[in-house]
Amino acid sequence: MTVNENEAPMIDIRNVSKWYGSFQVLKNCSTSVRKGEVVVVCGPSGSGKSTLIKTVNGLEPVQQGTILVNGVEVTNPKTNLTRLRSHVGMVFQHFELFPHLSIRENLVLAQMKVLKRNREEATKKGLALLDRVGLLKQAEKYPGQLSGGQQQRVAIARALAMDPICMLFDEPTSALDPEMINEVLDVMVELAQEGMTMMVVTHEMGFARKVADRVIFVEGGEILEDSPKDEFFEHPKSERTQHFLSKIL
Ligand code: ADP
Ligand code: MG
Repeated sequence: MTVNENEAPMIDIRNVSKWYGSFQVLKNCSTSVRKGEVVVVCGPSGSGKSTLIKTVNGLEPVQQGTILVNGVEVTNPKTNLTRLRSHVGMVFQHFELFPHLSIRENLVLAQMKVLKRNREEATKKGLALLDRVGLLKQAEKYPGQLSGGQQQRVAIARALAMDPICMLFDEPTSALDPEMINEVLDVMVELAQEGMTMMVVTHEMGFARKVADRVIFVEGGEILEDSPKDEFFEHPKSERTQHFLSKIL
């Protein structure tokens, strides 16, 4: 994906610091994601990756710094975060589908409630996306009747039904059985290749090698490396990154 260097970033994180009480979880983090870019975030457990990605749609407030999404200042208390979140797709580790609703209803609900689409339009869109992730036949089932990989694909379809301007993923495959990881990654690869702007916390380095434009390495709440993919894998700058890669590759 070629990106326009002159265009304002879709996601802009500037000098962000955050504390939980006296514990500093994010230390002066700055990075940006341009339109159409795929940025992978990796780093050891507890390093602040989830916290960082959740700051992007205001799920985690920060004490210092500025975050802009498509020019909207997430860190401004006057910003309507509900409205912002309606077009920032988020997929978590645990597929948070509504267990008491059919897959079809899971796909339709937010479109009707938040985007005020009528049922017919929302159903059409939801089913088209379900088809796209290869699960059209499961529409009338309930989440509990689907495998973890299938549920996560539904979660992605549900996020896409909102016509997101960008997508945030927080370890979307780390709770899945190994044989289901690829079916979810395949959907994400396709999305990336279609030009979706994505920020993805993952340790799936095969995914990163295939579609990432840049890879960010976080440790101890600091962005220690933020490099174009090839540079990240071939010549990681920081010793900590080298050490991390030597353990997971
Ligand atoms: P990662 O996603 O990289 O594993 P997290 O962002 O989840 O890391 O957490 C970073 C650090 O912040 C961890 O040390 C974690 O224990 C701590 N932490 C996360 N959430 C909270 C919270 N709500 N209150 C206090 N500490 C937290
Ligand atoms: Mg995490």
